[in-house]
Amino acid sequence: MKQFKGLRAARMPHRTIHLFRKGLRLHDHPALLAALESSEVVYPVYILDRKFMTSVMHIGALRWHFLLQSLEDLQKNLCRLGSHLLVIQGEYEPVLRDHVQKWNITQVTLDAEMEPFYKEMEANIRCLGEELGFEVLSVVGHSLYDTKRRCRPPDLDLAECYRVPLPADLKIPPESISPWRGGETEGLQRLEQHLADQGWVASFTKPRTIPNSLLPSTTGLSPYFSMGCVSVRTFFYRLSNIYAQAKHHSLPPVSLQGQLLWREFFYTVASATPNFTKMAGNPICLQISWYEDAERLHKWKTAQTGFPWIDAIMTQLRQEGWIHHLARHAAACFLTRGDLWISWEEGMKVFEELLLDADYSINAGNWMWLSASAFFHQYTRIFCPVRFGKRTDPEGQYIRKYLPVLKNFPSKYIYEPWTASEEEQKQAGCIIGKDYPFPMVDHKEASNHNLQLMKHVREEQYRTAQLTRDDTDDPMEMKLKRDHSEENVTKAKTARMTEQT
Ligand SMILES: Cc1cc2nc3c(=O)[nH]c(=O)nc-3n(C[C@H](O)[C@H](O)[C@H](O)COP(=O)(O)OP(=O)(O)OC[C@H]3O[C@@H](n4cnc5c(N)ncnc54)[C@H](O)[C@@H]3O)c2cc1C
Repeated sequence: MKQFKGLRAARMPHRTIHLFRKGLRLHDHPALLAALESSEVVYPVYILDRKFMTSVMHIGALRWHFLLQSLEDLQKNLCRLGSHLLVIQGEYEPVLRDHVQKWNITQVTLDAEMEPFYKEMEANIRCLGEELGFEVLSVVGHSLYDTKRRCRPPDLDLAECYRVPLPADLKIPPESISPWRGGETEGLQRLEQHLADQGWVASFTKPRTIPNSLLPSTTGLSPYFSMGCVSVRTFFYRLSNIYAQAKHHSLPPVSLQGQLLWREFFYTVASATPNFTKMAGNPICLQISWYEDAERLHKWKTAQTGFPWIDAIMTQLRQEGWIHHLARHAAACFLTRGDLWISWEEGMKVFEELLLDADYSINAGNWMWLSASAFFHQYTRIFCPVRFGKRTDPEGQYIRKYLPVLKNFPSKYIYEPWTASEEEQKQAGCIIGKDYPFPMVDHKEASNHNLQLMKHVREEQYRTAQLTRDDTDDPMEMKLKRDHSEENVTKAKTARMTEQT
């Protein structure tokens, strides 16, 4: 049926009668939806065939009233959408015959029903369709499942021949220590755990989540969405239910539903932008002469930058395959416009290889964002690889976990161990330059230099720079700023997703 519909749609849209029988509603109506999707014009019709109705069922006065009220309501709701319910009295066969011809109908859609008399009616309509040349599309919408459908499992003998291969079969190295386990079961468990805390869900404000907590401070559902183990639609509607019960809840772009809208945003732009994952030939992306420096790229990729915050992030990424959004910000900014001036495409490829949630649209979109190649325009604000992580984790627990070589440094040195004296380094059991590298760049110098380069690029390519510009520019931050001024909470400022120059 679907294939047929597809072929037809490729030729010409239908002129359709949607025949209401039961299904006297507009919401969740698969047959009506199919009619709308496949047609240039849809006639919403109810045939009031009293002869048929009274011959197949007993309808008391109360039910007649109820039916007429339902039709009245359907009429009103359709009117609200600029349409009309067309109620035609008479026997359904001649009524259909007349109107199919009168309106040049090419398709009749209707709810599939299971009662013998409705099945017979559908069969008769199909015969009429063959005679007059219209198609009939009936779709299950009255029960949860298609009662006719029987689905047998495959032969059990097949299971052994077609088993899931072991990693060793594919010569993939043994499982690392990643705490993430693949699959729908695990993904749904994670989903349920988060949804159980309705207060957390309702007040979720992305910029206030912590990039360097030892356990994810956000949902950690991205690997499951990325592989399709958990449905984003399920998540979205479950969130709607929670919001409906909450007195107050956060709003997009910072809310949880807002996060899904970001996903949708990047999917939408990616689907309409040629060469989305590349700089060359990508119309929304600034064309930048990034440095080609394999050695520096390698240092960044292998957590050898000499900046513990960046190296801890890159270690978590390599070991576990997931890092917090703001940690991604820090690592991406450092590689591109912040410190190394290396192309976002290189970073995107590394993320693609190492992230469990690697995703064509979201990865490229965010890399363009972070490198200020598109979407993000406050390019003068550059993350400091020392101060950024310190704000939410002053003791450096995150660094101690992922870079155990630094774990004995006092907190005041944990983000910049090269500033410790030789004696203090000895006491910490880690000599900078020997056990852990010196910083690969002078951040202040490098970021100032890159800022000038970026300024120049943007002046030269002003038109491209304007393409993805929004009035609010960074909606995540604008919303938060509004909230803050309303609440007059100055201390929340420190936990915000702000960048430091
Ligand atoms: C440089 C960079 C690269 C990234 N690459 C990817 C990637 O390849 N795959 C990926 O799924 N995310 C990517 N992100 C976006 C974001 O960091 C992750 O989606 C998020 O951190 C996943 O954690 P979570 O599931 O706990 O998110 P939550 O905050 O719990 O959000 C729920 C879901 O919303 C979606 N979402 C959240 N933030 C974003 C965002 N900024 N853009 C689009 N969708 C979002 C994700 O599907 C996420 O699972 C990238 C971000 C940056 C800065």
